[in-house]
Parts: sequence; structure tokens; C-alpha cells
Amino acid sequence: MTRDYRVAKTRGAFVVINSDGERVSPFWANELSAERERKRLQDALDARKRAEFRACLCCAATFWSHGIHNRLCDGCRGHANRLGRDMAG
Ligand SMILES: [Zn+2]
Repeated sequence: MTRDYRVAKTRGAFVVINSDGERVSPFWANELSAERERKRLQDALDARKRAEFRACLCCAATFWSHGIHNRLCDGCRGHANRLGRDMAG
């Protein structure tokens, strides 16, 4: 599944659309502005997706992180989830 953005031309304006064909930018009068916005959105998306080995923020163990949102190893994440439930309950 790709989640790539692209620039599309509508009636006299350029827009950025996502892989679902939804407009995700304002209308730009020139293609360069639209392309710049597309790149910004794409970079942000790619950064979120970046998976690599990371050191757990909690115990410093190296683990396979699914992306920059994923900073705790499985053990610590399970612990954090239990803590969250305890505090919520
Ligand atoms: Zn950990």
C-alpha cells in the first residue's frame, strides 16, 4: 500500500492529493508551490514511517522500532499500557 502524495492540476490551480485522491492542500496558483507542499507532506509521512533499530527510551534495550512513533520496546510498552489502564481505572 502506498501513501504517496502527488500534485494534480484542477481548473487553473494546482493541489496536492493523497493516495486516496483527497485534496490535502490549499489551491496553489503555480505548480512550484504545490510541488513544495507535496514534498513537505511526503517528507513528514516518510519520517513517520521510518522503521529501524532504536534504543528503548525506558530501559535502553535495542529493539526493532516500527517508526519514530515507536520508542519503547515491547516489554516497556506493555508495562506502560498497564500503567495507563491502572491510572484510568
Ligand atoms: Zn524497554
